[in-house]
Amino acid sequence: MTRPAPEPERIQRLLIGLERLFPEARCALVHRNAYQLLVSTILSAQCTDARVNQVTPELFRRWPDAAALAQADPEPLIEVIRSTGFFNSKARSLLGMARAVVERHQGEIPRDLESLVQLPGVGRKTANVVLGTVFGIPSGVVVDTHVTRIAQRLGLTREPDPVKIERDLMAILPQQSWIDFSHRVIHHGRQICVARQPRCEICPLAPDCDYFLAASGKPRRRAARRPRRLLTAPRRRPARFGPKRAARRRRPAAGTPTRSRGAAGGRRPAKRRKVRKSRR
Ligand code: SF4
Repeated sequence: MTRPAPEPERIQRLLIGLERLFPEARCALVHRNAYQLLVSTILSAQCTDARVNQVTPELFRRWPDAAALAQADPEPLIEVIRSTGFFNSKARSLLGMARAVVERHQGEIPRDLESLVQLPGVGRKTANVVLGTVFGIPSGVVVDTHVTRIAQRLGLTREPDPVKIERDLMAILPQQSWIDFSHRVIHHGRQICVARQPRCEICPLAPDCDYFLAASGKPRRRAARRPRRLLTAPRRRPARFGPKRAARRRRPAAGTPTRSRGAAGGRRPAKRRKVRKSRR
């Protein structure tokens, strides 16, 4: 599904609004290095950041780097991460990721998107989180559940698929804003533009938000301006009568003088029609 790109002025207003709302927005997952953030991001799937932050101190104490995690047995790892949900598949991803990092990258977390997404359990979202947050590399826009919902509400995309949403956002946002945009939108989604009942009444993005404007029946700022001159003919007022009755109303009464139109003289006077009838 394609749609015209939103206008640059609106994008600028949205970016400024988000910056004013959350000037210091940072990743909520507690971490000290790329390895820790990679592990935390894998664990954060279908789980809150607060819950992940509860289990990672013990995990990092027992397996402080990729080399240590690569040697871990699945059972104790599962016990540590059990409360984050989906613990069997997450344990498989963590062990696979750690072993691949040791085998392919000498235990160091790679710094490029292509290498990161080759690791087990690591998709574009996780790779963008690590590259943007730890290394400051704007490799893409992090699209999680909050970014998905808010990008759709703002009218920045109509796509439901995160990969296509990211493609749309990368096309309309300046690259230097990609990292902060994601962090700020995630904070916005947690505090104001919440899933069930967005708090539009206190949201400074409302004048540029499709969701709010559609709900309130207001036009967008730019669309609100009316053209000074009408470029098309004004619409006729609808007739209050049917076509026959309207024609009868337009016809002059018998004996009323009519304006002459050429040799025919326009409409025939009613009197002459009466004469013709009587001759038949
Ligand atoms: S105006 Fe409402 S729907 Fe739009 S971004 Fe703000 S809180 Fe979300």
